[in-house]
Amino acid sequence: MWSIASYTVESTTAPHPEAPPVIDCNGRQYSLVRQPPVFIGDDRVGWEEVTGGQYLAHASFDVHGIVTAYPVGWGECPADVLDVLLQYGLPDLYCGPSGEITCASFTSGVGSEYFSFDELRSQGAADPPWAIIRDALHDGLDCMQRNLNPESGYGDRLRITSAYRTPAYNHLLYISRFLAPNCRSPHMRGWAADIDANEQTWGYLADLGRSCGACVEPLEESGPGHVHVDWRPEGCPEGW
Ligand SMILES: [Zn+2]
Repeated sequence: MWSIASYTVESTTAPHPEAPPVIDCNGRQYSLVRQPPVFIGDDRVGWEEVTGGQYLAHASFDVHGIVTAYPVGWGECPADVLDVLLQYGLPDLYCGPSGEITCASFTSGVGSEYFSFDELRSQGAADPPWAIIRDALHDGLDCMQRNLNPESGYGDRLRITSAYRTPAYNHLLYISRFLAPNCRSPHMRGWAADIDANEQTWGYLADLGRSCGACVEPLEESGPGHVHVDWRPEGCPEGW
């Protein structure tokens, strides 16, 4: 089990908290210590984990600790979003490109034409009401809903069982099903959704997804209980 201690987000003018934030991930302790602050303009931008020599910091650092992007300051990033951002720095949970997810990637309360924010956000019990929901996901799901044939036997509304997932929730889902954790899931980057299906409707939904430009996970991998669709920008895996 994992847990992440919450800590106070400092503004650039507030004093630092005395105790550094500590993260416990699968029994491994990550102590975050304050580095000589790095500034872009007036914004302080990072923490570094030093316990195992493993670099851990705000996602806008690259692996060498070089700041690659920083759209907002700590003080503007809500504490619960920072908690999620820190998960993206944990190699056990997330192995994607480090510079891709920043505070500004998160949205709260914004849905698409057909789907509400609550249908698209992460469903973990401890997950904050923030999510990464890409325009391509909105547009793709809306396209599927718009073109859903009421005669198909599916019903008149797509049932989304999981869209955005925090790295921690994604990890929990896999290990709770005795599957090897998947640190590369596009669900963690806001490109993917799972749609409730069964043996009768799976093929229809898969075709509907492809007609809206989605990568569709093969039936052998997803099973008939859901259709996984995603609009990842790097193109689909072989056979999807
Ligand atoms: Zn999926």
